[in-house]
Order: sequence, then structure tokens, then C-alpha cells
Amino acid sequence: MSVITRFAPSPTGYLHIGGLRTALFNYLYAKSKGGKFLLRIEDTDLQRNSQEATEAIIKAFEWTNLSYDDAVVYQSQRFDLYAKYIQQLLDEGKAYYCYMSKEELDALREEQIANKLPPRYDNRYRDFQGTPPKDVKPVVRIKAPLEGSVKFEDGVKGCIEISAKEIDDFIIARSDGTPTYNFVVAIDDALMGVTDVIRGDDHTTNTPKQIIVYEALGFKIPKFFHIPMILNPQGKKLSKRDGATDVMEYKTMGYLPQALLNFLVRLGWSYKDQEIFSMEEMLKLFSPENLNKSASCYNQSKLDWLNNHYIRQMPNTTLQAMLQDYGVLVPLESTKLEVLFEALKERNYTLLAFSAGVQEVLNAPKEYNADMFAKITQEKIEHLKDFIGSLEANASVSEIEQTSKAYIKTNGLKAGDFLQPLRLAILGKGGGIGMAETIFALGIEECKSRISTLETIYNQNK
Ligand code: GLU
Repeated sequence: MSVITRFAPSPTGYLHIGGLRTALFNYLYAKSKGGKFLLRIEDTDLQRNSQEATEAIIKAFEWTNLSYDDAVVYQSQRFDLYAKYIQQLLDEGKAYYCYMSKEELDALREEQIANKLPPRYDNRYRDFQGTPPKDVKPVVRIKAPLEGSVKFEDGVKGCIEISAKEIDDFIIARSDGTPTYNFVVAIDDALMGVTDVIRGDDHTTNTPKQIIVYEALGFKIPKFFHIPMILNPQGKKLSKRDGATDVMEYKTMGYLPQALLNFLVRLGWSYKDQEIFSMEEMLKLFSPENLNKSASCYNQSKLDWLNNHYIRQMPNTTLQAMLQDYGVLVPLESTKLEVLFEALKERNYTLLAFSAGVQEVLNAPKEYNADMFAKITQEKIEHLKDFIGSLEANASVSEIEQTSKAYIKTNGLKAGDFLQPLRLAILGKGGGIGMAETIFALGIEECKSRISTLETIYNQNK
């Protein structure tokens, strides 16, 4: 039987990275087995769901390139179907109307708590034969087992067994007729042919209820894998403060989708001590048996490291095209582009930082670092002019490097007294990529002009 998995987000907001990780595991499992990965939007809560959120989820799927099979299933379009199954269970005596009012339920709950009993519905309408009260709109409850337990073998947590005493006859349709969460999830998973459900372990307690629905309707029960959450470095639930949680915000910050997916696959799954996984490798190596039992920890520097790895691997022309998304055009011919990008790849972890690095080189300085400027002398400027004038127009990076070393030596200069003013003239500040690469990328003429600007401003400030 082929593997069919699904991702079933509730569109209450953006897609967060925990959700993306769940989607990724489901995607990998299905695709690695030649099966199907389905997307279902759980939008039955008409008050809390929005079209915008659904679109944001779909956009995040596009960006990460996780493609789902078949058309997206929307629960909001399946109310008739759910009503049919509710009616079937009523007809078969597996579900019943319960006329207990909210006040009665509250009173029962208070009494149970006062008697130190766990609050639960007392089955009073389970076998009710009398005349129902007139003005109460009933809910529909499913008959849960009265004895024994509900058991399932979780692919991550092992055998999970919940005593029947802990599961009451839960509501499957509210008094307005709308079906409840655990009911529709079970129906949809069964009708969509889902064989394996990988989801967050916050759903572990829902599973026994869903199993009761499967059994009542005679549906095949899928295999469940409940995965532990992603925690922050302090061991607490991941929050907005720990980094972005919206998947699309990672794009804004300059992360590559392949880096984010690689990062996420390692949060809760491992293969030996390997850290870097291309999508092909993930598909080859992923197996739900290796899902971790303990919670994983969000580690920003690891994400940065992975992102840098994928930036380094990227062809420079692709990178050039991607920077346009960040508003940066790089009008350089290919040899200059190669030199500049290879140098910037060494030190920049995100596309955003990379764009800033490109702009720092390409845009002539608008201001100068004050401390460095204070050390400028006319003599130092003369050296810069001499040096730049001595370079051939088509000098290579290593020729620029060699000429600069030779210039320092021949003129008996301290390296810093020459290189710092050069950096100031060309970039306006210290730091950054190598000077030879910078000069090569900008071209001799542009560098001459920047040196001359420094001289003008130096003279104005004398
Ligand atoms: N809609 C649920 C959620 O967003 C997921 C349901 C499931 O995976 O079974 O948490």
C-alpha cells in the first residue's frame, strides 16, 4: 500500500516554522516512498480563520517548494459530508442527541469537582428513551467505550493506552449542527486515504477520540507519529522573541528555503551525525523511525551556518537574480561579479547581509569614519594616488595585491598607514572584504574618483 500523508493546518495566522517542520516530515515520508502528500486546510472555525491566512500558508509552500499532490481540501466545503456521517452514526445508534443545557453541564462539573472527581459528562442521554426537553437544541455525542481502553502504537512514543474512564461521550456536532474538530479530522483522514499521520505531540490526547470515530464508522486507522515540539535555547516553548516564527519572515531576513528545510529536518530527526542534507538526500535518508523522542532546540547560529553553506554553493548569477528581491541590482560584468560575490560569500550568513555587503562596495561612501578620517594626511593621500595610478586598467586581483605589497615595501610604509586610508577612501570605513577584490570589482577609474573625493573633503576640512 502506498504511503499517503497530509499536512492539515488551521488558517488562524501565518505558517509557523513548527508547522513547516511537520509538513516537511510528512512530505519526505510520502515522497520517499513514492506516495502522496496532501494539503488540507482546517477552516471550520469560521470566526478565527481567514482567507488571508490560507493564502499565506500556500505562499509559504510555494517558497519552500514543498509541492502537495491533488487539489487542496478545505474543510469548510465539506459540511454536508460531515452531516451525512453524523446522521449515519445517529441512525446506527452509535451517537445520540444530548439535551443537557450549559447550566446543567456547569452544575454537574462543579459537583464533580467538589467531590474530587474528574469532571466528565455523565452519559445521562446515552440511552435516553423519554421525551426530550422542548427548548434545548441538542448536541450530538458519540458513544465512547464504557470499559477497557483505547490503545495505539505511536511511531515515536511507543504504545499509548488511555483508559475508557478518561474519555467521555464527546460531542461530535454542536447545537448549531456544526461538527467538532476530532470528528472531522478522522473523517477527512479516512476519506483522503491517509495512511500515516505525523503531527505535533500537542495532538496526542486527541488521537484516542479520533480512533473512536474511526472505529464507529468502520474506517481503517492510520499510523500515528506524534513529534515533540521545538523549544527555545532556554527549554521553553518557541516564541516570536526567539527568532521569527512566520516562515515568510525567514525569506525577508534573507534565508534560503533549502537552508531552512535543512535546519528544520534536523530539529527532531537525525541520520548519524550528518548536518547537511540536500533535498535529494533527505528524500533518500528520511525515515520516521529516526524521529527523535525528545524535544529539539532552536539554534539560530546553526541556521546561519547552514544558510551560509547554501549561499556559498549558489551560482553567482542565481545569487545576483535573487538579490533583486531585496532591491539590489548588481550591474557588474561577470568576472567582477564573480570576484565580488566569492569574497562576500565568505562572511555573509543571510542574503540581507550579503545585499548590504554588495551595496557597501558599489555605492561610493556618503560619509567617512571619523577616527580614520582624523588620521589622514596629504602625504597619505599622495601615496593612494600614486598607487592607484600605477595599476594597469586590467590588473587581476593578485596583481593588485602584489602591487600594493610592493608599493608599501618600496616606500618604506607601515602597512596600516597605507591600507587604512585606502579602505577609508574606497569604502568610507574599516572592515569588509579584501581591498584587492574591492578594487578589482569597482575598477581603477572608480577607485581613482573615490580617492579624489576623499582628497577634496580632506582639503575642505583642513
Ligand atoms: N489543524 C491542526 C493544527 O493546525 C492539525 C490537525 C492534525 O494534524 O491532525 O494544529
